Amino acid sequence: MSSKPDNTTENLNVKSVQDKEDTWKNFKRLMSYAKVYKSAGIFAIISMLGYASIDVYFLSKLPALIDEGLNGANPEFMKWAPVFVIVCFIVRGVFHFLSNYCLAWVGNNVVTDLRQNIFEHVMAMPVAYHDTVSTGTLISKLTFDTEQVLQATSKSLLTLVQQGAFVVGLLILMFWQSWQLSSIFLVITPIIAVIVTIVSRRFRKVSKNIQNAMGEVTKAAEQTFNGHKVVLTFDGQQRENERFAQINKYNRQQRMKMVATKSASVPLIQIIASFALAFVLYIANIDGFVENLTAGVFMGVVTYMTMLLRPLKLLTNVNSEFQKGMAASVSIFALLDEDKEIDSGTIPLEKAQGKITFEDVNFIYPGDDKTTLKNLNIEANIGETIALVGRSGSGKSTASSLLLRFYDATSGQVKVDDQNIIDYQLKDLRKQFAYVSQHVVLFNDSLANNIAYGKPKASKEEIVEAAKKAHVLEFVENLPQGLDTNIGDNGALLSGGQRQRVAIARALLCDAPFLILDEATSALDTESERHIQDALNELQKNRTCIVIAHRLSTIENADKIIVMEQGEIIEQGDHQSLLAKNGAYAQLHSFQFG
Ligand code: ADP
Repeated sequence: MSSKPDNTTENLNVKSVQDKEDTWKNFKRLMSYAKVYKSAGIFAIISMLGYASIDVYFLSKLPALIDEGLNGANPEFMKWAPVFVIVCFIVRGVFHFLSNYCLAWVGNNVVTDLRQNIFEHVMAMPVAYHDTVSTGTLISKLTFDTEQVLQATSKSLLTLVQQGAFVVGLLILMFWQSWQLSSIFLVITPIIAVIVTIVSRRFRKVSKNIQNAMGEVTKAAEQTFNGHKVVLTFDGQQRENERFAQINKYNRQQRMKMVATKSASVPLIQIIASFALAFVLYIANIDGFVENLTAGVFMGVVTYMTMLLRPLKLLTNVNSEFQKGMAASVSIFALLDEDKEIDSGTIPLEKAQGKITFEDVNFIYPGDDKTTLKNLNIEANIGETIALVGRSGSGKSTASSLLLRFYDATSGQVKVDDQNIIDYQLKDLRKQFAYVSQHVVLFNDSLANNIAYGKPKASKEEIVEAAKKAHVLEFVENLPQGLDTNIGDNGALLSGGQRQRVAIARALLCDAPFLILDEATSALDTESERHIQDALNELQKNRTCIVIAHRLSTIENADKIIVMEQGEIIEQGDHQSLLAKNGAYAQLHSFQFG
C-alpha cells in the first residue's frame, strides 16, 4: 500500500513526458503542412521582429527626450522629434500589416489543405467507420477543430515572436541604461514563471474537456433534431429536454472553468509584477542609489518595466493558446490516421456479363458478435431477377451491401462472373451496380445533373432519354426551368414519388449490368405507383437484378424468390412453387394479401 503514491507520481511523470513528446510530434506534423508556404512564413517572422525592434528603438529615445529635449539642453533634438515620431509609426504600420497578412496567408492555406485532406480522407474511409462515427462529430472536426488550429497557432506564433522580441529588446535596453534598477526585475521573474507553468497546465486539461463537451452538444442536438418525429410520437420531449439540459449544463461548467482559470491568471501575474514596481520605487528612495541616475534614465527604466507587463501577460497565455491548437490537431490527426478503405483488387472490369454468386457466405458486422448472414448460397444468372424477402432485420440489405463491398464477407465468397469480387479493382466493381433505394439521395444541383450523377459526361439527349423512360419528363414540365431547375437541398422541391423516379433515371443512365433495388415500404398514391412501376420495369430490362422486396405484389414474376430469416435462407423458388409449398413464403403472402 505504501508504495502506491510513488507509483502514481511516476506514472504522472511518464504521462507528462509522453504528452510532451506527443505535442512535439503533432507540432512537427502540423509544420509539415506549413512547409510549402515557408517563404511567406519567414517573411512574416521577419516583419514581426521588425515591428518589435521599431517599438524598442522608439522607446530607447525616452531618456534622451527628457534629459536633452524637454529640459532644453539640445534644441536640435526637439526639432527632429516630430519627424522621428511619424517615420517610426509609418515603418511600424508597414511591419504590422506585413506580419499579420503573411501569417494569415500561411495559416489559411494550411487550414484549407487540412480541410481538403480531412474531407478526402473521410470520403475514402470504409462504411464500417461511418457506421460508428456521427456526422456531427466529423463536421465539427472539419470546421471547428481546423479553425481552432488556425486561430491558436497563428495567435501564439504572433505573440511569441513579436512580444518575445519586444520583451528581449526592452530588457536589453533596461540593463544598458541602469543594470542596478533592472536587476530588481530579475528577482520577480522566477516567481512569475512558476505561476505560468501551474496555470497553463490546468488550462490544457480544461481545454481538452471543453472540446469534447462541445462535440457532445452538437451530437445530442443533431440526434434529437433528426429524430424529431419519433420524439413527438413517443412523447419524449420532456426526456429529451432534460437530457439536453444535462449536456448543456456540463458544457457551461467546462466553459466557466476555462474562464475562471484564464481570468484568475492575468490579475495574479499583474499583482506579482506590481511588487517589482513598488520595490523599485522603494529602492529609488534610498540615498546614494539614485545619485548617478538622471531623471530621464529613471523614468525610462520605470516606463520599460511597466511596458513589460502587457507582453508578459500575453506571453503567459501563449502556452495555453498553443495547447488549445494542439488539442484540436490531436483530434484531426487521429482522424487522418484512421485506415482508409483498402483496395487490394487488381483485376480491371469494364463491363460484367451479369452473373452473381454467393458461396457459403458468412458475415459478422465489425465489432459485433452475432453472425448476421449464415451460410448464404445464392446464384443469379445473367438477366435474372432475384427477390430477397423476409422480415425486417433478416439480413436482406446486408447481403446487398456485400455485393458493393461496403463490407467484406467474413468467410465464403461473393462472386461476379465467377470471380471473387475482392479480386476486382474496387472502383470498377462498384461501377457495375446501379442502386435504387427507398432513401433517395439528391444533391443541391439541377435536376439534369442529379440524373447524370453516375455518368457526368452524359449528353443532353441521353439525359432526356433516361428522364423520359423513368417518367421524370411528366413532372419536369411543371418545373420553372425544366431539367435545369435546381431542386434544392436534398431535392426539397420534389415529392417522394418524384424523387424515386429521378433515382431510377439516374440508374438507367449509368446503364450498369446489375441493379440492386431496395423497394419502398411506404405506399404511394396509385398514379405515382403506376409510373414508378413502369419505370422500374424499364430499368430491370436486360439487367441482373437483386430486389429487396417489402411488398410481395411486385416480385411475383421474379425468377427466384429467396426467403430469409435471421440471416439464413429458409426457402427459395419461384412464386408458384413457393406458394404450393405452403411454407414461410405462403404465410407471408397470405399475411399481406389477407
Ligand atoms: P433487412 O434488410 O432484412 O431489414 P439488415 O440487413 O438491415 O436487414 O439487418 C440485418 C441485421 O444486421 C439486423 O439485426 C441489424 O440490426 C444488423 N445490422 C444492420 N446494419 C448494421 C451495422 N451497420 N452494424 C451492426 N449491425 C447491423
